[in-house]
Amino acid sequence: MLNSLISRRRLIAAGSLASIGAGFSRFAFGDTRQESSTRSASTEKPTLSVVPAYLGASPQTLPPLPYAQDALEPTISARTIGIHYGKHHRAYFDNLHKLLAGTPLEQATLEQIIMQSHDQPALADVFNNAAQAWNHNFYWNSLSPASAATAPSAKLQAAIERKFGSVEALSKALVATSASQFGSGWGWLVVDRGELAVVKTSNAETPFTRGLAPLLTVDVWEHAYYLDYQNRRPDYLVAAVAHHLNWAFASANLARV
Ligand code: MN
Repeated sequence: MLNSLISRRRLIAAGSLASIGAGFSRFAFGDTRQESSTRSASTEKPTLSVVPAYLGASPQTLPPLPYAQDALEPTISARTIGIHYGKHHRAYFDNLHKLLAGTPLEQATLEQIIMQSHDQPALADVFNNAAQAWNHNFYWNSLSPASAATAPSAKLQAAIERKFGSVEALSKALVATSASQFGSGWGWLVVDRGELAVVKTSNAETPFTRGLAPLLTVDVWEHAYYLDYQNRRPDYLVAAVAHHLNWAFASANLARV
């Protein structure tokens, strides 16, 4: 409560809330003409001014877990998912509600909040909680039970072979890049200017604020694996990537990029 009051005072003091409200009209989901027209030719990694339509419009509501809490065992225990989903993920939504109560962003989508608050120090608390809420929505869908394993679509398979050579090589790259994230963060399979790429982000950072289109993610915050693997982050990643990547989800995302 105290933190949220302090944060809200900080927002008001910084004059940020007025600019948030005024900036709303520039969001036009799915309008790629705005995206391209506002890109600067001088920047290598243009920042999107609109959220890619395929990422949707996520409400500030914790979505149901797409499978049972024990569905990823033995790779990820029901205990880990119970705390990760039920405590950590829920807390990001709860914090966001406190931060945004009574502000122009109270009814905004997670994507709108993320785009409005990233790279703005006065809105760091808002960004961190909104982006973590969104990243976890994406993470649960990036995984699937081994019994429900899926394969990449023909389009995704071709893109993987073109960039990495094989699914196995992509998997190794995703594990290596994710394992190498120093401290908390995320590993991602993304589309970067028409080609697949594996990237990592720190803390709550999410690729779409940098113009990258995420297809899959793996959480490398310690809370994602520490109960099951302690310091052995690569073991968690190898098992999760080998048995639980939701290729149907990645394929559906690629089809809409
Ligand atoms: Mn997490």
